[in-house]
Amino acid sequence: VFIAFEGGEGAGKTTQARLAAIWLRDHGYDVVSTQEPGATKIGMRLRAMLLDRETTGLSARAETLLYAADRADHVANVIRPALERGAIVVTDRYVDSSLAYQGFGREQNVSAIARVNAWAIGGLLPDLTVLLELPPEQGLGRLASPADRIESEPPEFHERVREGFHALAEADPDRYLIVDASRPQAEITREIQYRIREILPD
Ligand code: C5P
Ligand code: MG
Repeated sequence: VFIAFEGGEGAGKTTQARLAAIWLRDHGYDVVSTQEPGATKIGMRLRAMLLDRETTGLSARAETLLYAADRADHVANVIRPALERGAIVVTDRYVDSSLAYQGFGREQNVSAIARVNAWAIGGLLPDLTVLLELPPEQGLGRLASPADRIESEPPEFHERVREGFHALAEADPDRYLIVDASRPQAEITREIQYRIREILPD
């Protein structure tokens, strides 16, 4: 079983992914918690390059390809091996982040990015993608240290990212859970657990 958490800045992906993994472990499942970008040795180097994009003037297409490279390595070295041994994989960000940020956010060709990524991941899509939705101004306000982020993007960028995520999720309701992330954390956690229960093996 493969579960991804997606959403904009400060929506609570990391928190909810962690809580879901703890809950699944408490129920006796073998769980691998992971995240993008930067879950593998090469991924950590790529993450450093991606976060440094302003000083290096990293171009938008190269950025897209570096995210795809990170993801290809993540699938090959972490996600696929874990799924093959029967573990549940919970990831903080996956392919939809590239469609939303590099596609909708940077206004690049979304279907081209989808094709590059489909190849990078060898077609491995999550069984469930949890989309945590929060207005960007609320999410950005929640961040403790915005310095580690895409700090200088204008509000319109984050608004396009939010709309992009929403469009992706609406197009495939069987595979997505859209969550209103402005609600109390415990309520969100329960809603996510309820949906995960439906896709677990007995
Ligand atoms: O998820 P995390 O906060 O660690 O992501 C680090 C930064 O990378 C964030 O600023 C996020 O917006 C950005 N990012 C991106 N495109 C992706 C994934 C993450 O711009 N595909
Ligand atoms: Mg996070």
